[in-house]
Amino acid sequence: MKDQLQALETEALQKVAEATSLKELQDVRVAYLGKKGPITEVLRGMGKLSKEERPVIGELANTVRGNIADAIDGKKETIEAAELEKQLEEETIDVTLPGRPAPTGGPHLLTSIVEEIEDLFIGMGFEVREGPEVETDYYNFEALNLPKGHPARDMQDSFYITEDILMRTHTSPVQARTMNAMEDKRPVKMICPGKVYRRDTDDATHSHQFTQIEGLYVDKNVRMSDLKGVLDRFAKQMFGEDREIRLRPSFFPFTEPSVEMDISCKMCHGDGCSVCKQTGWIEILGAGMVHPRVLEMAGYDPKVYSGFAFGMGPERIAMLKYGVDDIRHFYTNDKRFLKQYHQA
Ligand SMILES: [Zn+2]
Repeated sequence: MKDQLQALETEALQKVAEATSLKELQDVRVAYLGKKGPITEVLRGMGKLSKEERPVIGELANTVRGNIADAIDGKKETIEAAELEKQLEEETIDVTLPGRPAPTGGPHLLTSIVEEIEDLFIGMGFEVREGPEVETDYYNFEALNLPKGHPARDMQDSFYITEDILMRTHTSPVQARTMNAMEDKRPVKMICPGKVYRRDTDDATHSHQFTQIEGLYVDKNVRMSDLKGVLDRFAKQMFGEDREIRLRPSFFPFTEPSVEMDISCKMCHGDGCSVCKQTGWIEILGAGMVHPRVLEMAGYDPKVYSGFAFGMGPERIAMLKYGVDDIRHFYTNDKRFLKQYHQA
């Protein structure tokens, strides 16, 4: 029986050594150590043995079983390590493959244009100011020489919250607010970008909400030629050094005299084409010398101070600069449109 056990051990260890997969190893375990295995069989026959032999054979059987189990466990680790190694080898990362770029956003075209215009005016000594979008009738109209019942109010119909509180129709109230806030009535040189609201029906060139940038310069001896110089610099820096500007008489209640500024058409260089409606010029913004009444209402003596103001729509600037054909593209958040200008 002793020989039988030792032969079983040799045979089992041989099978363990030959096993090449976890499956084969499991088969060996079942075959030799299982309940129907030969070792269990041997142990069952122990009743026939003498009292002296029993513990000797019992101990040997346990040793043999232990040795086989140890061999199986050892082999199992080896096979597992080899399989892991093989898997790692098969699944190696190819570091030469190009990376997958993480999608990144970019500033909205309008944001870029507003920042570009801000930079340009900051370069000329203007500071950037902001004001509330929900405004009082006083600052939106009256302080700008637009008393109640003034016909020019009709061009700026707004959304009213109460009789006296409304969504601002332009960024001009920031001018009045800034001048009013200057207790020592120092010179003012500022621009104010921001959202404004009008009760317009949306179409390709109109929107009930849009952006404006307003500029104001109040000091002693500010002249029309200063306005022209600043606007000329703006136009050339924004649209190209070869662009000319032209001032045409116009009307705004808060400036006197008032002008519209055009820039020469880039497409036809003044000869006339469809872009400039055959005129050679494209309308860009409105401007003028600050009305003495506006200065007075803000506490500035119009006999001592003078100033100019201008206002433009960044949407229009962006449309002209980048050839955008519909103002609604700025607000409908179509990624195909927005993506084109991430590098702009
Ligand atoms: Zn043209």
